[in-house]
Parts: sequence; C-alpha cells; structure tokens
Amino acid sequence: MARKIKQENLKEYLDSIETFNLANIIRKGREVKTKYVKAEKGENGFLTDTIIFKSEDIDKPKQRIWVARETLLCNVTGNCLRNCGGFGECVEGCSKKDEKRAKSGHRCSFRVQLHLYADDMEQWEVTFEGHHVPPTTVWVAPNKNPLKQNEIRKRALTLMKDGITSSKKMKLNLKEDVSQKQLQSFIQYRKKKEKKDGTVMRLSNYSDSSDEESAEEDNLLGIPKNNKQFHPNNTLQIRINPTM
Ligand SMILES: [Zn+2]
Ligand SMILES: [Zn+2]
Repeated sequence: MARKIKQENLKEYLDSIETFNLANIIRKGREVKTKYVKAEKGENGFLTDTIIFKSEDIDKPKQRIWVARETLLCNVTGNCLRNCGGFGECVEGCSKKDEKRAKSGHRCSFRVQLHLYADDMEQWEVTFEGHHVPPTTVWVAPNKNPLKQNEIRKRALTLMKDGITSSKKMKLNLKEDVSQKQLQSFIQYRKKKEKKDGTVMRLSNYSDSSDEESAEEDNLLGIPKNNKQFHPNNTLQIRINPTM
C-alpha cells in the first residue's frame, strides 16, 4: 500500500528507511507531465525538488491522474539477491555474468515507486516493492562511499578548488574515513566533468549531487551519457538507466 508523504518531507522520510538509506540507490528516471506541472530544483538533490502546477491558470486535470512519477532502484551492491539467484554476485554460469551491462540487467528486486497525482499535489504516494534479500537472509548493506554525503563532497570540492588535486593531500585535509582510491576516482571524475562542461567548478553545482552520482554510475555501467529522451505527449522523460 502506498504511503502519503508531503513533498517537503520526502527525503527525510526515505532517509529514515534503512533498506533505502543504506542501499546504493539509483534513479531509473523521472517522468513529468509538463503540460501541467514543472519541477523546481531543491537544495539537496532531486528528492528535495518540488513539483508544482505550471501556473494557476492552466486547465487542471479533472480526474485523478499522475503528473509526476519516479522509480528508484537498488544497485545490487551489498549481498543483494540477483535474478540468477546469486547473493552479491552472479552464480557460476549465469548468462549475464560477463555482459557489459550485467549489473544493470541483474538488479535486486528492491525498488521505490513515487507518484504524484493532480488531485493531491501536496504529497507523494510512496510504494516499496521487492526486497534486497529474502526474509530468511540477513541483508548486508554495501559500504557506502563517504563522498556521497553532501557535506563531505562539498568539502572535497572546495579543496579541489583550492588547488588540492592529489588524493593523498586531500585525504589528509578531509580527515574522513574515505579511501585514497575513492578520492582518486572522485578527483578524476570531477576533472573530466569540468573539461567536458567547459565550465569552472561552481559552488552552485553542489546541490546537484544526485544527478552526478547517477552519471558516475552510468560511467561504471558503460552507459552513454546524455541519455535524455524527450517523449511526445508532453512527457519529459529522463532515463538514467533504461534497462533493469
Ligand atoms: Zn546473474
Ligand atoms: Zn538491493
């Protein structure tokens, strides 16, 4: 059954759910009926975005239809159960084991569905589906990269801005439980991103953490970037990871 959660409380609510908060969650994509609504960027990633009517003058739908929806998936790290029956990794002889995108083709079944309906724009309807592991198994959450925490990421970016681009120096400065390897890939990723965007790092980019994580994720999975699709009938669909 769906739970109703006020838009402004969505992140706080999801963060309070351990199976969500401790997992590596990725976005499958958000669909927005741009005929009726628009998304306003939140301060702290996409979960804090606010969906509002485009204007008060628009012809609002008479029936209960969804105007925004989003699916969040577990990236099957930790000891999550895969489709082939393997825990944490594929079983011997799994046909998807060697596929480049096996990871995306072989997720665990845990997911969160978010729906916003036109007749109740205040609250998301949140549904949890599936599970990381069956009830008979204890779920072992993945080791989360500390750089996924906004505060630590912000400090790392500030250090980079101050010219610290060696992982060793950054580790000394950050004083966080983050490995040099994690820092290295973070620094490399940021450098590449800057080069690609052709822009100087801006502090205002910080709030965009979720998209950035997904982009990182996409790189790992070998999925081409800019995987945005514009659909007809006024539906804007951002597919970050089209397969499951
Ligand atoms: Zn498998
Ligand atoms: Zn999982």
